Amino acid sequence: MDPNFESKLEAYAELTLKVGLNLQSGQRLLIGVPVYNTGVPLEAAPLVRLLVAKAYQMGARYVDVIWGDDEVLLARFENARPDTLMEYPSWKADVLLDYVQQGDAILTVLGNDPDLLKGQNPEWVSRVRKTVLECTDPAMEYVRRSAINWSVIAVPVKDWAAKVLPDIAPAEQVKKLWDAIFITCRLDQLNPVAAWEVHLRQLVSRCEFLNEKRYLGLRFIAPGTDITLGLPEGHVWTSAHMTNQKGVPFTANLPTEEIFTLPHKEKAEGIVRASMPLSYGGTLFEDFTLTFHEGRVVQVQAKKGEEMLRKLLEVDEGSCRLGEVALVPHPSPIAQIGLLFYNILLDENAATHLALGSAYKFSLESGRSMSDEDFAAIGGNRSMVHIDFMIGSQEMDVDGIAPKGVIEPVIRQGKWAFKVG
Ligand code: ZN
Ligand code: ZN
Repeated sequence: MDPNFESKLEAYAELTLKVGLNLQSGQRLLIGVPVYNTGVPLEAAPLVRLLVAKAYQMGARYVDVIWGDDEVLLARFENARPDTLMEYPSWKADVLLDYVQQGDAILTVLGNDPDLLKGQNPEWVSRVRKTVLECTDPAMEYVRRSAINWSVIAVPVKDWAAKVLPDIAPAEQVKKLWDAIFITCRLDQLNPVAAWEVHLRQLVSRCEFLNEKRYLGLRFIAPGTDITLGLPEGHVWTSAHMTNQKGVPFTANLPTEEIFTLPHKEKAEGIVRASMPLSYGGTLFEDFTLTFHEGRVVQVQAKKGEEMLRKLLEVDEGSCRLGEVALVPHPSPIAQIGLLFYNILLDENAATHLALGSAYKFSLESGRSMSDEDFAAIGGNRSMVHIDFMIGSQEMDVDGIAPKGVIEPVIRQGKWAFKVG
């Protein structure tokens, strides 16, 4: 094996544990969170073994791995009786709940074929997805409250690499996708951990700047997009670099380029066009526009995936409202690579985006300790889904709406319009 690859893989494992999770001595670690996929893809084994060894070296009390496999999931869709699709093993929900309740760390490893469920009945796909979300919701509440240190990373697998890099020889696809992920994670730099410290500090300064502004709203203008979002009182801008309830700083996903907060769930007015295709749970949504009135999606149009998109909007009361607004300057290092990754972790960090569905409680001042009712009363959206979709490009302008209707530039032609130290 390429010795250069080996050392990059090792650096990736180290970055994940130190900058991503900031794993604390004495913590347990669960690798594989059966919510976004069925568990860690088998092809991630070389990285997972490194993670486990390093985690113990850092003082982990116990490391558990939940493996998952696209083929196994597909076999279920192709062969199981439809009336069994509401089945979810309670131990999977229990193990996750046990880890988060005990204040341990959890790591999601994404690496899945974006087209896996393409030919499957959308009704069944959404039934399975809804069941998983319902069963794991009590555990995910700890994540939404940022109670623990968690992180999400990506690992190339064959089918995914083939989708991202169709023009490259099949034998080279996985390696090329690794190269791209290494670059987005700044592992091509001499000291990646130090490079991340500088980058994360920048993101934190941008958050501080916007938090002082206390904007009442934001207006997004780009071809096909003109939407104004109200921001609730007490909204907080955060980056993926946050602090959990025990005061441990961690980075919720690697790579990350965004800063985000929550829009008021009843104050979205206008039309928004996706600037990139969106791959969600095995379905691809392409070239779609959503029209909002009083915070709700009132009109949907999509070249591809319209039926599934409508289904997602109907999952529950909150899935047709917004829970996140995130700013990413263009071009971000991820956009610069010029690939569509068909993976939300990477694609959302390529561009300014919004998310349908749940808002994070930590996006609101004292939100972490708020009841669902109080959170909703201030404008925080609640839903079982959280679906990021990209709207940013080099043609996007974003205005901040200050008190008394004063308009201030936040982003101009994709780039930050304000400086921080
Ligand atoms: Zn985001
Ligand atoms: Zn999001």
